[in-house]
Amino acid sequence: MAQILSSSILRIDLDAIRANYRSIAARVAPARAGAVVKANGYGLGAEQVAAALYREGCRTFFVARLVEADALAVMLGADVPIFILNGLDPGAESRCADAGHIPVLNSSTQVAAWRRLAVSRGTALPAALQLDTGMSRLGLSLAEAEPLSRDPAFAREIDLRLVMTHLACGDDPDHPANAAQLGAFTAGCGLFPDAPASIANSGGSFLPKGFHCAIVRPGVALFGVDPGPAAAGLRPVATLHARILQIREIGPGVGVGYGLDHVARGPQRLATIGIGYADGWPRNLGGVGRAWWDGVALPIVGRVSMDSLTIDISDPRAAALAEGDLVELIGPSQSLADVARDAGTIPYEVLTRLGSRHARIFVEDGQSQIAGDRI
Ligand SMILES: *Cc1c(COP(=O)(O)O)cnc(C)c1O
Repeated sequence: MAQILSSSILRIDLDAIRANYRSIAARVAPARAGAVVKANGYGLGAEQVAAALYREGCRTFFVARLVEADALAVMLGADVPIFILNGLDPGAESRCADAGHIPVLNSSTQVAAWRRLAVSRGTALPAALQLDTGMSRLGLSLAEAEPLSRDPAFAREIDLRLVMTHLACGDDPDHPANAAQLGAFTAGCGLFPDAPASIANSGGSFLPKGFHCAIVRPGVALFGVDPGPAAAGLRPVATLHARILQIREIGPGVGVGYGLDHVARGPQRLATIGIGYADGWPRNLGGVGRAWWDGVALPIVGRVSMDSLTIDISDPRAAALAEGDLVELIGPSQSLADVARDAGTIPYEVLTRLGSRHARIFVEDGQSQIAGDRI
């Protein structure tokens, strides 16, 4: 492989994403599996991820925003539906319709705006309708949706492609809210019996069959993150390595990093590596987290800087480490879930914050492709 001239390297295993999609699709069949690729494909690269999923047979995509849909549509072509989960920003209706995206109508205001555009264009416009079944985040209440279901003009103006809701506790199979939401959703779907229905995110895809409806909307599980206890066997997708920029030895009493938070108690061998909070490495891992090399834990000492952080490499098993070497931050020794736990957050946040400076290597069909110009 070409030498990579970058101080951090994010490797994305598209084969693993495809395998995870296959296993979810098999699990939910005969329901279909779409894919949620919002937030730049959970930080990993929406275009490459969506292209790989398309090759695996995925034909329905979900993003959060109009700009994300624009970027995907160029690549996927006009016949692949792209749903915009956050719905319509005021004034964006024409742009959305011209681009052929499918907005998820989340409020009565959005429904009214989309209907007005349909009337002015003299044609039905495609949309999904989100019902709020207990999460109180996005969607119409059943009381708001009910009059629409009785309005023949609504049926003429809106080409209803999906009725959907979202689970608040889908990652906890035993949570009573799941059954309560499914019950409310079933009643809501009864209002629009001809439209396909969708309730399940990743967590919901691992709940019983009743939650799978016509189509499931997995996101994080595609990227190898376990959405709950029932989801064994997903393949990890991302590894992250950073390069040693400099090695030094310090003696007792010497401080390290901003604020000199860490002060050596004895002789210490340190390595400063080229990754920081601007690269999405959580700042609160200062003094808490670790990097790894050849199975050896290398604790982070002092604060995490914007572009670098310092690790303790005094362990004799790490004696061979030299400037320019790569250490592991996410990989076989330290999972995304480990990092999230140490940082007091969830794998979703660690993934989606991975910045744009990493060299990205995409692996598909066993072949590596280096993205961008950082090689
Ligand atoms: C983000 C999102 C999903 C995907 O959720 P995961 O937990 O990542 O599977 C599905 N549906 C909606 C409405 C979402 O906002």
